Amino acid sequence: MTNFKDIVNSLPSRIKLSTNDERWIEKAYNFAEKAHEGQKRASGEPYFIHVFEVAKTLAKLGMDSKTIVAGLLHDTIEDGHATEEQIDEEFGKEVLFLVNGVSKLGKLKYQGRERHVESLRKFFVAMAEDVRVMIIKLADRLHNVSTLEHLKPEKAKRIALETIEIHAPLANRLGMWKLKGELEDLAFPFAFPEEAKNVEKLLKQKSRADEKSLEQIYKSLQKELTKNGIKAIKISYRVKGLYSLYKKLKNTDMDIDKVYDLVALRVIVPNIEDCYKVLGIIHGSWRPIPGRIKDFIALPKPNGYKSLHTTIFTGNGAIAEIQIRTPEMHDQAEHGIASYFAYKENLFDKNNGDTKISWIEQFKELQKNVSNPENFLKNLKIDFFSKRIFVFTPKGDVIDLPEGSNAIDFAFAVHSDIGNHISGAKINGKFTSIYTELKNGDIIEIETSAKVNPTSKWLDSAKTTLARRHIKKYLDENSLINKFINRFK
Ligand code: MN
Repeated sequence: MTNFKDIVNSLPSRIKLSTNDERWIEKAYNFAEKAHEGQKRASGEPYFIHVFEVAKTLAKLGMDSKTIVAGLLHDTIEDGHATEEQIDEEFGKEVLFLVNGVSKLGKLKYQGRERHVESLRKFFVAMAEDVRVMIIKLADRLHNVSTLEHLKPEKAKRIALETIEIHAPLANRLGMWKLKGELEDLAFPFAFPEEAKNVEKLLKQKSRADEKSLEQIYKSLQKELTKNGIKAIKISYRVKGLYSLYKKLKNTDMDIDKVYDLVALRVIVPNIEDCYKVLGIIHGSWRPIPGRIKDFIALPKPNGYKSLHTTIFTGNGAIAEIQIRTPEMHDQAEHGIASYFAYKENLFDKNNGDTKISWIEQFKELQKNVSNPENFLKNLKIDFFSKRIFVFTPKGDVIDLPEGSNAIDFAFAVHSDIGNHISGAKINGKFTSIYTELKNGDIIEIETSAKVNPTSKWLDSAKTTLARRHIKKYLDENSLINKFINRFK
């Protein structure tokens, strides 16, 4: 039997719920149970189990009580017996907004693929307004992919592929790596059954050997830390997720020996000072692999990820990745954007210079300029789901671009005035052609001249929708035929 207390008890221990909030969750629990009365899932279970599990996932992420309540209610209008008016009356506008954001489209307007794409678009619009909509949707998807075996193979495959193509990348973009990995690994066997079987076999053979050598390192490391007076809060190791391993293997001709982070040791210490000390101790005992020492504490990833990484030769022919971080960094690495809700940080404080959610702002821009759903999906795939690179302004601001972007894309991402008049670019201090493809971590300085304007060569080389839209607009307005017509106006 389920109980609303199971949801409350799933919250991280540092979060203390007020009695009011707890009563609220209980009320939503009872409301949802009634709204789904008599309904069953494909598995034969009561439908209510689904919304109960979604709410539990949201609680585990440490989300606020409104989000947990919305999680319980998320299917009550679309699939249950409840109405918008009831939810508004009982739980208020904010919860109703979240529930509506997660619901699919009304049944009339669109058909088939159109309908599907349009409901995706609607979801992104709601999400751009309130990122909690997406977090509920991801929790919803997590339970759906964990019950795929009850669906017809064809439908299961479609949902699994969609999860890998859309939901997992979204979770990734929000820095919710744990959830991303769970979504991928649950969907993988249904999306690509053969591949999943092969990778699983490879991993089993290899990880057993790696785990053994990791255990030895674990023991010596613990000794070294104690000797140096450092108290680790936790040392643990993780094996790489099946799907992310599959993606890596595709780049290494399926050679598993070339995957350096198959297993990784995680050291969690109380503060930043200790992180660097631990890195020093590790490098004093094992030889690090050049080029694989990464300081994401001093230079966090644009989505906020912080940690020290190093890969060492273990001494018995194997290599191992070690990640060093504080408990806060660890929480953020696992839960990304959700951990900001848990720590009650104001995500949307513009004065913070917060780059973490700037892509949500870009979403808003993008959807404003799209008239047909097919185009929307195409743009979305290019700009948001393709591989990203992160480059820097001379001041150190991070600009997030799709792979293959050049200085023109960069310039437009900074400001359209800079984009429209880019005359030259310095990459990492060296003058370079503006058409040169940018690489992860490049620092770019743009030179502008009032005399320079967009050309069709720019249009051919630019990768982002933003840059292309600006260039096209200029070219259209200044085409010979337009100039000619304007003269006679
Ligand atoms: Mn649902």
